[in-house]
Amino acid sequence: MTSKLIDLTVVQLLSGLKHGEFSCVEVVRAYLDHIQAVDPKVHAFITVLPQEAIEAAAKADGIYVSARRSGSLESLPPLLGLPIAVKDLVTVKGVRCTCGSPILDNFIAPFTATGVQHLLDAGVIILGKTNTDEFAMGSSTETSASGPTFNPWDLSRVPGGSSGGSAAAVAARMIPAAIGTDTGGSVRQPASFCGVTGIKPTYGRVSRYGLVAYGSSLDTMGVLARTAEDAALLFSYMAGFDPLDATTVKVPVPTIDLAEHQEIRGMRIGVPAEYFIKGIQPEVEKSVREAIQLLGSLGASVTEVSLPHTKYALPVYYLIAPAEASANLARYDGIRYGVREDEASLGDMFRKTRGHGFGPEVKRRIMLGTYALSAGYYDAYYAKAQKVRTLIKRDFDEAFQRVDAIACPVAPSTAFRLGEHAGDPLAMYLEDVFTLPTNLAGVPGLAFPIGFDSSGMPIGIQLMGPHFKEDTIFKLAHAYQQATTWHKQRPQL
Ligand code: GLN
Repeated sequence: MTSKLIDLTVVQLLSGLKHGEFSCVEVVRAYLDHIQAVDPKVHAFITVLPQEAIEAAAKADGIYVSARRSGSLESLPPLLGLPIAVKDLVTVKGVRCTCGSPILDNFIAPFTATGVQHLLDAGVIILGKTNTDEFAMGSSTETSASGPTFNPWDLSRVPGGSSGGSAAAVAARMIPAAIGTDTGGSVRQPASFCGVTGIKPTYGRVSRYGLVAYGSSLDTMGVLARTAEDAALLFSYMAGFDPLDATTVKVPVPTIDLAEHQEIRGMRIGVPAEYFIKGIQPEVEKSVREAIQLLGSLGASVTEVSLPHTKYALPVYYLIAPAEASANLARYDGIRYGVREDEASLGDMFRKTRGHGFGPEVKRRIMLGTYALSAGYYDAYYAKAQKVRTLIKRDFDEAFQRVDAIACPVAPSTAFRLGEHAGDPLAMYLEDVFTLPTNLAGVPGLAFPIGFDSSGMPIGIQLMGPHFKEDTIFKLAHAYQQATTWHKQRPQL
């Protein structure tokens, strides 16, 4: 029973619960048992909430039973009893939220993030908090204070990052879906490395309230799941205007109806030459081109597009993101949040608290960002980067006049080995070369599996869409998944 339950998709789980094929307690137990069996090897979770989850499941079962009796099943919360996990960068009231950092080791969140609250209102049960690079700064989940997460397909490799815990948990069937955050690729790159589906929504689509700030003009909250259909379902409940986040937008959230055999005839896919650069793993390029071909054979038309300023995206991002981070992380002063090192003078207290509380990558970003924002260099670095950011956004605006979606690789290679990029920050930053342009432009991006390389590691493709057109890229991904079985493969642990 257990292995069957954990193999079900979100859509199948919800249908089974509704039809009384199994109970919420059985589902939650199955996942908790599997976490207990597998997570010592994978280390996807920082916190597991077994008692709270079982209690919530028993309550949900009661609601199902009485609704069945009174014939009101259709009016139940739509995600009632569905277990999910939440990246430890997103707050859940009363639950520890470390952001993978020593400085928040003792931090208990005083409120729940709006996106999570929307899902709780729809009936989900939170099973735990997943591992992340410290303050989401990284591409491998190796900088977490609680230790690295391991890729379920090969435990000697990284799961990607920074939402590596969420991606590994979904891939290893420890949870059917998980929340991640994406500032420069942190949902999509781990989704690709772990062979799952991950959506980074349009900036402003999902509230950032309760998403611990890294780069505020880039931060987004998304979903990782096994299928586009599952991710679309959770995304549609998570999204929406929030008075607590002034950058959310009052545009209607579409119900994304991914009926079987979704018609994609007539949809136009653009392929940007700038994303097929030298140095990309040949198997990745081959699989991406084959996947685009398949989408073409399913009815989409494929044309070339150009995003000429792509080559500036990496330097622009690594000025803007650290600049915003340096300002955002100034709040960890030992007084308002987290760990404090007591010292005789205030200055010493700040120095010791921050000196010991932040890891090396976070310190590097704070120093880079402070430098870029300093009086003598502001115009040369930060202001210049903002101007080039506008050019990058314009590239997308122009391309989306001609196509409905843009297809490209998620990352230049499949999952690398633990430690492979340690000591070489630039090599790590290059991981984001294909994902961070969407964050700079604010457009949505979706990653999903399209094959394996010769070492058996998953390969992903990225579809990018115009602002607020998540439904377009979900439809294309769903059509692809209807025609293939890559997303159904599971790692042998
Ligand atoms: N790897 C990128 C960085 O380190 C992106 C991280 C993210 O999206 N949170 O900044």
